[in-house]
Amino acid sequence: MTEHRDVDRRSPDPHDPGHDMVAQTKHELERRGRDAGPVKRSSWLPGPGQGFGVTFAQIFRKVTTEEYPEVPKVTKPRYHGRHVLNRHPDGLEKCVGCELCAWACPADAIYVEGGDNTEDERYSPGERYGRVYQINYLRCIFCGLCIEACPTRSLTMSNDFELADDNRADLIYTKEQLMAPLLPGMEAPPHAMRLGEDEKDYYVRTPDPASPAEPVTVEQP
Ligand code: SF4
Ligand code: SF4
Repeated sequence: MTEHRDVDRRSPDPHDPGHDMVAQTKHELERRGRDAGPVKRSSWLPGPGQGFGVTFAQIFRKVTTEEYPEVPKVTKPRYHGRHVLNRHPDGLEKCVGCELCAWACPADAIYVEGGDNTEDERYSPGERYGRVYQINYLRCIFCGLCIEACPTRSLTMSNDFELADDNRADLIYTKEQLMAPLLPGMEAPPHAMRLGEDEKDYYVRTPDPASPAEPVTVEQP
């Protein structure tokens, strides 16, 4: 059997798990030869002077210290933060309890149980609604696959990133915590459909830009 001496194929990146610093240094010394002289400095400054020079140069750089939490951090507009379960402009829930978000989640962080709407107790247009909805923020990696999978745009992500807590139970967010607040013109479910005869009318309607419950987003170039 041939001995494998593959030090050359080791990664030169010291952060790479395949990197072997001892073997690589040994190989480098072998390559230079035992009689090779020391490496010459490229600077006329002595070593300590070069080291302090790096420190001294930092003094004149722009300070990037963040004053958080006294000064709240402003995230990018498309930041993936805490989830929101959205509502239709009359207050009914957009979630139809289909569980597609839970199936799409690679971290198994979402738990959904659907329920049946009745004419006396209606939470969403159509047949079903999300009776139980939980997101476990101990598991969530904020990848956004769940919001891509949601067919009704019920589930979206906000810019809120302050999700730390001191116990595990409080990081499992319930439907009540995730539901969007009621805006002017909305009524808390259960109630009858106000925007059409059936659920299709909710999705083919032209949004009313004057309604505070229906902000029209303009894409920036
Ligand atoms: S953001 Fe990703 S990890 Fe978090 S709940 Fe959605 S799919 Fe799961
Ligand atoms: S949030 Fe969207 S994908 Fe998830 S259960 Fe509700 S409707 Fe389905």
